[in-house]
Amino acid sequence: MKISKLLKERVSFSFEVFPPKMEQSLEPLKETLEQLYKFKPDFISCTYGAGGTNKGRSTELCEIIEKSGHDVMTHFTCIGNTKQDVLDYIHEYVSVGVENVLALRGDIPHGLDGTNGDFSNANQLISFIKENFPDLCLAAACYPEKHMEAVSIEEDINYLKLKQDCGAEFLMTQLCHDVEAYERFVDKIRKKQIELPVIVGIMPALSKDSIIRMTVSNGCSIPRELAEIIGKYGDNPEDFKKAGKEYTAKQISKYMDAGINGLHIYSLNKYKDIVDILNASDIHK
Ligand code: FAD
Repeated sequence: MKISKLLKERVSFSFEVFPPKMEQSLEPLKETLEQLYKFKPDFISCTYGAGGTNKGRSTELCEIIEKSGHDVMTHFTCIGNTKQDVLDYIHEYVSVGVENVLALRGDIPHGLDGTNGDFSNANQLISFIKENFPDLCLAAACYPEKHMEAVSIEEDINYLKLKQDCGAEFLMTQLCHDVEAYERFVDKIRKKQIELPVIVGIMPALSKDSIIRMTVSNGCSIPRELAEIIGKYGDNPEDFKKAGKEYTAKQISKYMDAGINGLHIYSLNKYKDIVDILNASDIHK
């Protein structure tokens, strides 16, 4: 099913997984998926390796999810891809049943000053896919606290408008712990005539090092409540995880109250902690 269609009907609920390395077994991820399916997600998104690595595994994983009777959205980037590559890879995704693509630029690999492909920015990739695969539903990334490279939030939002104009049908956010910052962002984009539904991505706080790394490497802020958890429990992984799960469950409730169009959990190929968080949140009660 096209995600744009379901967003017209309800607030979506989804998970994100990443394809394991080629030499790793898919069995643990299949078990994770089985557990996540119990929450009746509207779709599962499957990331695309940074720098364009692991493409084969990504298609294989999309096929597994589709065959299980669940909808999938693949992520896809400009990095290293010519127009012909895009045609070939998207054909492959379509052949396994994929109907939704999150079209991204990708992070520029170290040592390069561009994407090393035919498209420099996501809006160009969106236009090209739309032209060649008009039946696909395309999504674009957005950054409530601004993309790291953007000079200002206003400039970033102008480029976001371009992604809407080029054919994106909904937006998915970068992690953003600060719900008020998200609300200010939505106000700003609506004033710029960006009307697309916004699905919010939630990054669970499960370990001190990884939550700091993922937050800081994306140029996002750490709110006081999370900073306190890091300060109090940073030296004790178990206590940190307990407090981090409670914090994440509260974040989910806060976002639901903020009137979002969809909730997307970065499940990081895990399920036990995710199940605890969802059971502690009020979304499935
Ligand atoms: P763009 O929209 O191209 O924006 C990149 C920068 O260029 C921004 O600063 C923007 O303001 C500016 N810009 C945009 N358009 C133009 C233009 N036409 N001219 C000049 N400047 C412009 N990466 C992966 O490798 N794999 C993944 O699976 C993946 N999944 C992601 C999922 C989500 C929800 C998000 C938010 C990000 C994801 N990323 C992923 C990371 C993403 O690839 C990076 O954030 C990347 O640096 C920017 O991608 P973009 O599509 O937003 O790029």
